[in-house]
Amino acid sequence: MRSSIITATAICLALTSDAQDSVMFRRISDEVLLHSTCYDNLRDLCKNVGHRLSGTPAAAKAVVWGEKTMKQAGADRVWLQAADVPCWYRGKESLALKMEKDFREVPALSLGNSQGTGGKPLEADVVMVYNYEELKAMPDNAVKGKIIFFNYRFRQDFVNSFEGYGDAVNYRWNSPNIASRRGAAGVIIRSMSTGEDDFPHTGSMHYDDSIPKKIPEMAIGNQSANALEYACKRGTVQARMTSECHMKEGLAHSYNVIGEIKGTEVPERIITVGGHLDSWDVGEGAHDDGAGCVQSIEVIRALKAIGYKPRYTIRAVLFMNEENGLMGGRAYADSAIAAKENHIVAIETDAGGFSPRGIGMEMSDARKDRIRQYTHLFLPYNVYDFSHNEGGADISPLQRKMNLPVAGLMPDSQRYFDYHHTANDVFENVNHRELKLGAVTLAQFIYLVCEHGLD
Ligand SMILES: [Zn+2]
Repeated sequence: MRSSIITATAICLALTSDAQDSVMFRRISDEVLLHSTCYDNLRDLCKNVGHRLSGTPAAAKAVVWGEKTMKQAGADRVWLQAADVPCWYRGKESLALKMEKDFREVPALSLGNSQGTGGKPLEADVVMVYNYEELKAMPDNAVKGKIIFFNYRFRQDFVNSFEGYGDAVNYRWNSPNIASRRGAAGVIIRSMSTGEDDFPHTGSMHYDDSIPKKIPEMAIGNQSANALEYACKRGTVQARMTSECHMKEGLAHSYNVIGEIKGTEVPERIITVGGHLDSWDVGEGAHDDGAGCVQSIEVIRALKAIGYKPRYTIRAVLFMNEENGLMGGRAYADSAIAAKENHIVAIETDAGGFSPRGIGMEMSDARKDRIRQYTHLFLPYNVYDFSHNEGGADISPLQRKMNLPVAGLMPDSQRYFDYHHTANDVFENVNHRELKLGAVTLAQFIYLVCEHGLD
């Protein structure tokens, strides 16, 4: 009898708590959908700062913007955290292809961190391969001195486009190493793009220490890649690459921007939400990752605005240098370790400002199950997918070094790789409702962890 009373009381309490959570989910959603400043903040970042590659004056301006915007959101404390970053310089660049009679320029972008041609034209025959195996099978004299066109297509059969990106991205990251070891002079890649357009996509590449020469790498859009593929099948094609890009000596001083709401009961325990403040040096870094920055700030603003008093400290972090070095993410983790901080979980938003569909998690199964038992609370917001293993790049040092549970906001992925790292990643291509809904999901997730913990 006694045990059944206890059980009934427990069920009652659970139901009350569930109803309370549901009401709080709605309050968070109403606050963001009706009063959010995140869309205006994104416009301000995109139009008044613009693209903001690490180590540039624009990135420094973005830090000032972040500090100001975080304060306006009502954070209890806002500060800058030092993070020294590499500086890559693009300069002038062009790619001309001789597919018929004359050389004709096509839209192209050097890949980030690539060494250029010193501003002088590099002219050579183009050798097309579809993958690394094909290059491996070629005799040295067919490769030496040539410009290799890695015509690896972004696979369309993955429904989650991040899987397609994961499959293709090694051709951007690593191709100059493979080609340099075979004596090639340069590399052209088909962009990591789902788009049926001709926007080239930049993004980071790297050079192994052991390669004979740092050869230049450029990306072309899907339409130019289709034309080049067709021309290579028909006969000899020549390319003329000209680029000034290079990595500057040393590191530049820069910063992460951090704002927090102090916890009321256990302030030393910390929940982090963040996106990255730097972007590539084309477009406006609207989806990647201006969206994640303004959503993280919005979590602070919305929770403050509804008068929520979190048990734990909630921190929004705008990380610097995600794109070509991860120095901000490293600095945040190193500082947390040095200060012996007590973190509960970190969640990242760096997958575009599209409709949220779920939250990926990299943590123990027990913790995942703990979050999944609240799936029903998210369903009215069209957020249902808690199945993926997903965290984020900026919080990965924290995850690795502190063994911290991490999560990642997972928006609909169908359009992200149309815009990602292109001149077309601009404010106009972000929908204000979809952007806000992402902030809603983040704030709801953080509320849940504050109320119920992860253990
Ligand atoms: Zn990003």
